[in-house]
Amino acid sequence: MIHFFIEDTTTFNLCSLTLFWLLPVGAILVGMAANSGYYFMTRWTHRMVDRYDFFGMTLLSAFGICAIYYIEYHFLVIQSGLGDEIGFWDFFKLVTESTEYRVRVGKIIPGRLPSLGWFNYVMVFVHFIGFLLGGAVTFLLIKASDICKPCSKYMVKVQAIKVFFGSLQSYLGYASRLGALDPENPNFLSDLVEKESKIPVKHEQAVRYTWTYKKCPSCNAAILKGEGNIRDGKEWKDLKDSSHTFSNCDELKL
Ligand SMILES: [Zn+2]
Repeated sequence: MIHFFIEDTTTFNLCSLTLFWLLPVGAILVGMAANSGYYFMTRWTHRMVDRYDFFGMTLLSAFGICAIYYIEYHFLVIQSGLGDEIGFWDFFKLVTESTEYRVRVGKIIPGRLPSLGWFNYVMVFVHFIGFLLGGAVTFLLIKASDICKPCSKYMVKVQAIKVFFGSLQSYLGYASRLGALDPENPNFLSDLVEKESKIPVKHEQAVRYTWTYKKCPSCNAAILKGEGNIRDGKEWKDLKDSSHTFSNCDELKL
């Protein structure tokens, strides 16, 4: 529905947002949206996903793109009483061949491309693949979730703490102390999390280290994951080799 809302209000078809011609970013996002229910249900019910879910989710995406065409057909053709004259495939052909793709380079739109029949079918195919990719990406997101293996439950985020360092240099000292800890038995970890500055610094080369504390909803087992970002201009960028995961953090007081 969001898809139609955007198209209706802006005459902008989200699905046809294509980056560098071949990467159907819009279609991937819509494919992910189509699978968001799947994502939340698996997380909520703590069902572990397997390769069947992978097929299920990509299929759901494929079904999603067909549904979009069909709903469009329903509203534009059947509702205006033309259902007997224009079949679904005629409609599909008409829509595909009459779509014009615009060349966008940054914010400059130099002009429309001449309508090439076959090219439009290639684009439909590219979008279709994008949809399937959206399903696959959502699957991988679930797969990448932290799991408490003995309980087969997804870990739930309890707390996130951000600590800041004025320079890369001061962070590196912290990083080497982190690296010296045993990932299975992180004594003094709370000190390392607690004693650092939580006052945001945003100047160039400042480092932000985000700790995420996650717990198993059944057995209370906890992990602590850390990830660093470095300030580059106006943005925080990922800091290479900065992630740390500590298990056995059940007793940790943050
Ligand atoms: Zn557990």
